[in-house]
Amino acid sequence: MSSSTPPVTSPTTPRSDVVIVGAGIIGLAHAFEALSNGLSVTVLDRDRRPVGASVRNFGHCCISAQDGELLALAQRSRPGWLRAAEASGIWAAEAGTLVVARSATEAAVLEELHAERGGDAVRLRSAAQTAEALGRAAGEDGDLVGGAVLPADLRVDPREAAPGLARWVAEQPRGRILWGTAVTGVESGTVHTTRGPVHGDRILVCVGHDLDHLLPDVAEDHGIQRCRLTMARAAAPEGFRTDSAVLTATSMLRYDAFTARPSAARLREEVLGHSAELLEIGANVMFTRQPDGTLLIGDSHHYDATTPPFVDERTYELLIDAVARVLGVPRLRILERWQGVYASSPRGPLLVRDLAPGVRAISVTSGIGMTLSFGLAAATFDGTLAATA
Ligand SMILES: Cc1cc2nc3c(=O)[nH]c(=O)nc-3n(C[C@H](O)[C@H](O)[C@H](O)COP(=O)(O)OP(=O)(O)OC[C@H]3O[C@@H](n4cnc5c(N)ncnc54)[C@H](O)[C@@H]3O)c2cc1C
Repeated sequence: MSSSTPPVTSPTTPRSDVVIVGAGIIGLAHAFEALSNGLSVTVLDRDRRPVGASVRNFGHCCISAQDGELLALAQRSRPGWLRAAEASGIWAAEAGTLVVARSATEAAVLEELHAERGGDAVRLRSAAQTAEALGRAAGEDGDLVGGAVLPADLRVDPREAAPGLARWVAEQPRGRILWGTAVTGVESGTVHTTRGPVHGDRILVCVGHDLDHLLPDVAEDHGIQRCRLTMARAAAPEGFRTDSAVLTATSMLRYDAFTARPSAARLREEVLGHSAELLEIGANVMFTRQPDGTLLIGDSHHYDATTPPFVDERTYELLIDAVARVLGVPRLRILERWQGVYASSPRGPLLVRDLAPGVRAISVTSGIGMTLSFGLAAATFDGTLAATA
């Protein structure tokens, strides 16, 4: 920082009703909800714009694939996303999810979910309908059996959603974002930053996986690890047009709505038989279409206390080949590659921890923060979000 840069906080910096640490989707959804409730908000982020997990993902609000309490929270998130999109002008499409079935077992899991949730929530598709949605010939490789559309799911553009919401927050008379302001500690009423103290009645720490840096004891107590995911952006094959997120068998092995079905155990054995390498890299072979027509494809999951910077090219080969097979094309033209990180914990999908009176840390520890963000924010401000053990 140049010596002429003015401090962004000073003794005259106004106190806010709510101070939020972290301008990722969790912090910004809370800022949106607080401002919607007429509260004044200051958001602090150490970076100059959102570059964390919230811009590196698929932009998939994967509501229907959740089960139990997380399903309820995800369902609560949906109207929040739509309201925020309307207010801020970001793209949010009620595009749903297409789950592709490429074997009788995969189709059985989808049929079981259909029987459980009903035809409005899970619409079964024939092989021809699935092929049409993918823009490929029906059963070209003899490998499309059917599919299902989950219409409640939403799609957003991850590169635009958090930055667009941040812009909206900063434009509100009661909203403020201080970029380039790293938080070093929190206590009741005060957030300590690299630019001086910031005061607020209520403090929400929403730093995602960086909780292990800011509050290492809290992160360790919740068993938080960093989950590293590899992603790529590819040119879409000609004919591919759907805005639905596309999930496959490996996705079904990762989301509770599918793993709770009777045929899920058989599906795991089947995938292990034909795609053991995909399971070894923790693959969730899926893809989403960006508003510019390109595809976000991924992903793998590797868990560690910290994130090695190196990505084994074999991981990319496996994922890219798997997506190409679903799309019925020999290869994909890759435009970009990157890694993303999210907080993960074997103790549970959420960390909600009261640190001091009026100070709370909220991290999603299960890789579904885009899905839950606005549901969590609504529950925070109506007082129904309980602290986790
Ligand atoms: C590759 C990938 C794919 C994913 N796909 C999906 C998906 O399809 N659907 C879904 O629901 N979820 C998905 N997720 C998970 C989702 O992206 C995350 O759960 C969510 O983005 C977490 O949001 P966050 O705001 O907690 O964290 P982040 O977006 O990481 O934001 C945290 C912010 O805190 C700031 N910060 C950290 N420490 C400090 C500090 N000391 N002081 C000030 N600021 C600080 C950081 O700069 C950052 O801006 C995916 C994640 C990845 C990585």
